[in-house]
Amino acid sequence: MDCKQIQRLIPAFLRDELKGRELMRFLRHMDTCEECKEELTIQYLSSEGISRLEEGKTFDLDRELTEYMVRAANGIKRRRNYILGFLTFEAAAILILFIVFIYALA
Ligand SMILES: [Zn+2]
Repeated sequence: MDCKQIQRLIPAFLRDELKGRELMRFLRHMDTCEECKEELTIQYLSSEGISRLEEGKTFDLDRELTEYMVRAANGIKRRRNYILGFLTFEAAAILILFIVFIYALA
């Protein structure tokens, strides 16, 4: 699968609709592609983050995204620790930008 195909799967992944071989391909691609990882993080933060803010709840999205990825990876037992490592770092960086952006709008 190329990046376009992978990125089209992101909404389905976030709704927990990817299964089996498709999920494995998705995670394998995320393992190696910075661009798609960034897109995944942004889509997760924008969908989850905005609904949480509207509900007035506190949140720890970078941790939750990491856990989400780990749960998915555990399902197919693949390079779990690597995924945990990169997402924790990357999601934290993007989360900071996201929070700054939201406060700028408020
Ligand atoms: Zn890609």
